[in-house]
Amino acid sequence: MSGRWGSSANAPASQPSQDGASKNLAERGSAWTGEGARPHLVACPTWPLLMFIDSHAHLDGPRFDSDRDQAISRAREAGIATILAVGTGDGPGTLDCAVKLADQYDFVCATIGIHPHEAAQATDTDFRQLEELGRSPKVIAWGEIGLDYYYDHSPREIQQNVFIQQMELAHAAKLPIVIHCRPSDNSDNAWEDCLALIEQHWKPSGFGGVLHCFTSTWPHAKRALDMGFMISFAGNVTFPKAQQIRDSAKLVPLDRMLIETDSPFLAPVPHRGKRNEPAYVKEVARQIGELRGLSTEEIGAQTSQNFRRFFSLPESGADV
Ligand SMILES: [Zn+2]
Ligand SMILES: [Zn+2]
Repeated sequence: MSGRWGSSANAPASQPSQDGASKNLAERGSAWTGEGARPHLVACPTWPLLMFIDSHAHLDGPRFDSDRDQAISRAREAGIATILAVGTGDGPGTLDCAVKLADQYDFVCATIGIHPHEAAQATDTDFRQLEELGRSPKVIAWGEIGLDYYYDHSPREIQQNVFIQQMELAHAAKLPIVIHCRPSDNSDNAWEDCLALIEQHWKPSGFGGVLHCFTSTWPHAKRALDMGFMISFAGNVTFPKAQQIRDSAKLVPLDRMLIETDSPFLAPVPHRGKRNEPAYVKEVARQIGELRGLSTEEIGAQTSQNFRRFFSLPESGADV
């Protein structure tokens, strides 16, 4: 979340196998892998090739109230095939926000979960609601969950407990997890705790997950890759001071990488300072393409393929 991410990152990757998540999502037998069920969007001849996927966007808040539909249309016009709407909302009371959006748009899928910021507000009733929401066929991941020691909006011990509890619920729901991790300044504290908790409480599930808005260094990326995780880069990879993120973006294997906007936060250069929206994910692809000697479209196509493979979604763009 938010334009509050600093910079961070560095080094080469191995390519461990992952796919517990894919297998298990396929077993869920959802509309994502079956025929029919959901209505298909009518293709518009003016759309460009749909070759980008925004793997993380918050489209529910007031910053989209005046033009949510238009922002989603602009994404489509910019070639965004799929948007993963993150469902943490403002915490309890709004946990169905992404599911509602996904029900409205064929090409939007959803996550559910309680963000570490709101961990202290979580009750058993909220966890029961999340279990219920997790049965929607449009829900493809549990998150964002994890630790935020930068803001400490919830006490750290409560963040850890709520994180562990949600890993258990995600396991029962057979959903991969989306991780938010932010350490306090000049520290790796949240990374060390977060990766240790994942190793202890999540790794055995084999479902993997996504490290969203990755800002850290190669050793942290490597530990997550070894547990079947994907690494997602956001708009801050374009920020002048974010050399550490660019260093990591050079090293994460191309077939384990995703791109995201984290809208409405973290608008990439040249939109920096404005509200972010899914269409701008192309700027993230452009920056990573420059780093890897590939075109914007090649990064878009590769990261879209990665997203569909990891979440066991159909290959085609328009009806995802
Ligand atoms: Zn986040
Ligand atoms: Zn987020």
